[in-house]
Amino acid sequence: MILDAVRPSVRNMQGYVPGEQPKAGVQIVKLNTNENPYAPPQVVIDAIHMAITDSLRLYPEPSSLPVREAAARAYNLKPDQVVVGNGSDDLLTMILRTFVDPGEVVTTPTPTYSLYQTLTQLQGGAYTPCDWGPNGELPIDDLVAKNAKVTFVVRPNAPTGHATPLEDIVKLCEKSSGLVVLDEAYGDFCSTNGLAILDQCSNLMVTRSFSKSLALAGLRIGLGFCSQEIAGELHKVRDSYNVDRLAQAAAVATLDNLSAFDEIIEKILIERNSLSKELTERGFKVQPSQANFVFVEVPKHGPSAAAWLDLLKQDQILVRYFGNKDPRLLNNLRISVGTPAESLALLQSIDRHLANP
Ligand SMILES: *Cc1c(COP(=O)(O)O)cnc(C)c1O
Repeated sequence: MILDAVRPSVRNMQGYVPGEQPKAGVQIVKLNTNENPYAPPQVVIDAIHMAITDSLRLYPEPSSLPVREAAARAYNLKPDQVVVGNGSDDLLTMILRTFVDPGEVVTTPTPTYSLYQTLTQLQGGAYTPCDWGPNGELPIDDLVAKNAKVTFVVRPNAPTGHATPLEDIVKLCEKSSGLVVLDEAYGDFCSTNGLAILDQCSNLMVTRSFSKSLALAGLRIGLGFCSQEIAGELHKVRDSYNVDRLAQAAAVATLDNLSAFDEIIEKILIERNSLSKELTERGFKVQPSQANFVFVEVPKHGPSAAAWLDLLKQDQILVRYFGNKDPRLLNNLRISVGTPAESLALLQSIDRHLANP
């Protein structure tokens, strides 16, 4: 049978299941995959329009050099310290392919982004996670003891929203012989970030996504920041033309106009606080968040988290539940911060279901 020819590491794995993406045109309050509820600034839309020309018949710049130069200007780095991905997930794939041979160890403090497990399995590596400390502390010694080729730390973490102190990341880098990846998909929502320690840590790579704070999930753009030496190796495993012309044009316009995003990021932070307060008043236990989502424990006297997922869905509201995969998250939901109108729809639905259980 042909399936016997499939690699056992693929045959025996589940495959990553992304959050639900509703069909086009369906009216839905989408609070499940942490996209930006606001449109990208007009200058970015204009740049995409201007890239729709006859030159679309030509391949894009293979290494996304214009994007790397724009990122170098925006973040005060050298273009050779920047790698561009087709979304930051593409960078995570490149990292695994560059560093991990079959049987080699990848670690991360969990609960966290579950794609690391999938990518490690695809590579034939050994995924051996650790638990976060009881108060969300980075378990530095446990992670170091794994002797991993790659250690992933999400900061701010998903789904919990907490941000590890940068001093702990420095300590982890000092004690690790492998690569430490700081996944800053939500970095723009946090007041501090890993670029501040990049010079200090030669085995550190910081990854960023354009899908959350930068409102371009539909175009798939991610950036990786690291030493020139690491970047050189990653470029060897990259798909030859991994970022298309429209995405490169949008990325350059975004990086040259980062301050145009301040307003929408600020609106999200304000809404994060008011949503947290409203949910707390309704008996939800809300963890302090440094990201564009809140991680809550549902009220004890009321529907279970799994039941809330269904109840909200009946009202065309999507949130994320991970308890079916991870028993530690049985009573929790992750809710993206949307517009004030979206929060209102969510809270009205919650109020209705609390009044008529
Ligand atoms: C959303 C997310 C990503 C993926 O971002 P893309 O740029 O859309 O591929 C990576 N890491 C974490 C922790 C995320 O939440």
